[in-house]
Amino acid sequence: MRADQPPKLRTEIPGPLSRELAARLAQVECPEVTWQGGPLVFWEKAEGSNVYDVDGNRYVDLLAGFGVAALGYAHPELAVRAARQSETLPHAMGDVYPARLKVELLETLQRVLPGSLGLAILSSSGSDAVESALKTALVATGKPGVIAFEGAYHGLGLGALDTTWREHFRAPFAGRLAGRTTFVPYGDARTAERAITSDTGAILVEPIQGRGGLRIPPPGFLAELREIATRAGVLLICDEVYTGLGRTGAWLASEHEGVEPDIVALGKALGCGFPISACVGRPEVMRAWGAAQGEAVHTSTHLGNPLGCALALLVLQILERDALAQRARQLGERALLYLRAELAGAPGVVEVRGKGLMLGIELETREAANAAVRGALESGWILLGEGDDGRVLSITPPLTIAEDVLDGGLVRLVELLSR
Ligand code: PLP
Repeated sequence: MRADQPPKLRTEIPGPLSRELAARLAQVECPEVTWQGGPLVFWEKAEGSNVYDVDGNRYVDLLAGFGVAALGYAHPELAVRAARQSETLPHAMGDVYPARLKVELLETLQRVLPGSLGLAILSSSGSDAVESALKTALVATGKPGVIAFEGAYHGLGLGALDTTWREHFRAPFAGRLAGRTTFVPYGDARTAERAITSDTGAILVEPIQGRGGLRIPPPGFLAELREIATRAGVLLICDEVYTGLGRTGAWLASEHEGVEPDIVALGKALGCGFPISACVGRPEVMRAWGAAQGEAVHTSTHLGNPLGCALALLVLQILERDALAQRARQLGERALLYLRAELAGAPGVVEVRGKGLMLGIELETREAANAAVRGALESGWILLGEGDDGRVLSITPPLTIAEDVLDGGLVRLVELLSR
């Protein structure tokens, strides 16, 4: 694989081929599916931290494609593995006649995850993994109520959506939502405790809110939730779809506070480009599902897909072998120090925060964030505004990003925000 390179633009952004594709897309895709908040750039190929668009422009993806490309794009070992697996067994009947690889992936997840987290349900998206966790909580406690947090993003499937906070996503489907979620302020464990009723089966929390605006709760919050959940006899579900698998400098972000959740949801980086996710729980909790009585009550066609399992298995091995959580911690600490120093007192900057390679720059206005995202794109750096009002610039690059290339992106960002 070629080393990461700085951006190189050949056309205006978006280029003519991207503009043409945007017009064609509008004729064939439902309008509420693709982002319309700025110029649409269509991707052609990607390698490491670099993405190339259809017009031949080279970018650096400071988002790792929503945190998915933790090992960078087209990692050579993953590419070889994917090709080999496609030639031998691209699909199996995951819940009836599973692939050998399903067992190997589940064994590896059990080995690498902390504590006793060890029985899993595989699935395809982060939303699926959260829904497996919500079903497990109901099966294990008999109680459908969930405490979730303002700002939370747990996915858009009709089950997970009930626990996602933003009205923008919920309102059109309100009539289909179970309405069994109580939202309390993020970071406020005492209010969460007071919200627990005889109907509550679980507390569902992101250790750091990603799509909610890179929000880091006060120290001790997660540990306090753990104690509260244990005391009240409810389950603690950590949604680590974004934060998990090294991103914040540990396998799981909940480890920073020494917390072992009852259930964890993983996705995004797990397949590093192949859609695979997992809900992993403590054995006592997962065994509440009881012995199977024949046909499985919770499964799907692509569950345990061998291609996905092969890639996820290799992703876990590479994360471990190359100590990428540790690298994320070191690069993240350096980036945070640099951004804090350079942006101290910059007009319109509210706060710079982060943990590992999950960094956020909160700006005063959505307009300022949009301008920065656009300015960055027009100079070849990909980032996005997150949060309910899109004011927080999110920086979540591949954990493998070349240091000098990351530095170049941060320098450019500081330039854009210091104008
Ligand atoms: N949970 C968290 C914390 C997420 O950040 C996301 C997606 O961004 C999801 C769940 C949903 O994942 P997916 O989009 O794969 O369904």
